[in-house]
Amino acid sequence: MPDYLNSIKPVVRALKPYSLAVNEAPIKLNQNENPFDLPAVIKEESVRRFMNTAWARYPDFVPTSLMEKLSTHAAWTPDGIIVGNGSNEILNAVFAVTIAKGEKVLLSEPTFAIYRQTATVLDAEIVSVPLTTDFRHDVPALRRAIEQHQPVVTVICSPNNPTGTIITDDDLKSLLEVAQGLIVLDEAYWEFAGHTFVPLMHEHPNLIVTRTFSKALALAALRVGYLMASPALATEIRKAVLPYNINGFSNIVAETALEYYDTELAPLVARMITERDRMFDLLSRIEGIAPRPTHANFILTRTTRLSPARLYDELFARDILVRDVSGHPMLKDYVRIGVGTPEETDALVVALKSIYELNNQHQAV
Ligand code: PMP
Repeated sequence: MPDYLNSIKPVVRALKPYSLAVNEAPIKLNQNENPFDLPAVIKEESVRRFMNTAWARYPDFVPTSLMEKLSTHAAWTPDGIIVGNGSNEILNAVFAVTIAKGEKVLLSEPTFAIYRQTATVLDAEIVSVPLTTDFRHDVPALRRAIEQHQPVVTVICSPNNPTGTIITDDDLKSLLEVAQGLIVLDEAYWEFAGHTFVPLMHEHPNLIVTRTFSKALALAALRVGYLMASPALATEIRKAVLPYNINGFSNIVAETALEYYDTELAPLVARMITERDRMFDLLSRIEGIAPRPTHANFILTRTTRLSPARLYDELFARDILVRDVSGHPMLKDYVRIGVGTPEETDALVVALKSIYELNNQHQAV
């Protein structure tokens, strides 16, 4: 019998699945979500609105009303907006319309692992430029790589996951100027940096910006993301997006969340930023770990006396989930810790102190 798995592309069979430790714990600091949850007023209003729709009918063919609200929210033209079932889905659409077998995709790594995963499935050749030793985007090296390889797509994540570092407007412009291909700027965490690259799209039509409702906007369960690009580019990318990709309920919740953004969600983002800065201070004072400065809602944290795997286990034993990111060679001493509520930060600090104090005592004997 022929091996039915032979139908799968060799690049796919060689890939390790993208996965996440499936552990659950009461204090969840491993996925950079909004720890305050979606305010009840938005949940209730969304459910009320959804109750008045026909569930047996397909949702709108084009989510026009959501696109218009996004256009106001993000200051970009609605015909240059594509809404997706999470931002990952639209990034995949960008890859689908650009990557032909062997075409190059440039990444600035370590970064969000999905870029490499999805581009590889589509048979791209990945060109990787390492971040600098202090985890910044290595702009001169990226420029050289763009000139040398002329990738069809370059993906830059800013603030970068998992390092929390950012690229400046001038540095991004210097890449856009040499790139003949597209540059996707993933702004999943832009609210925490208070900076958007959207204005640069006016002068640089090869720039695409992607955003998500899964982080600051507290909607990870609903799977909503969006892309902004020049209308001509958006028209092409839409060809790879499946119809009705955004379900009726998510559409309503996303619209309601935008309506309540200023009164309900912006204050939560402000609290998360305050909490991030407090958490950074507290972590800096614990012997045995070293947090890295961040512009996002997570903190890349170095642990030298305990391995990241051991620290993960010790925290898990104390009901706290963090992300072990040590799989990447540049991050072999690091975990990523998301910003939680003030109570969660306090519990984290107590746990870390007890873990490192115990460990220091063991070292002393
Ligand atoms: N981009 C980055 C940089 C992320 O960290 C994440 C979530 N981990 C996403 C995109 C995914 O967003 P979504 O939930 O909208 O697919």
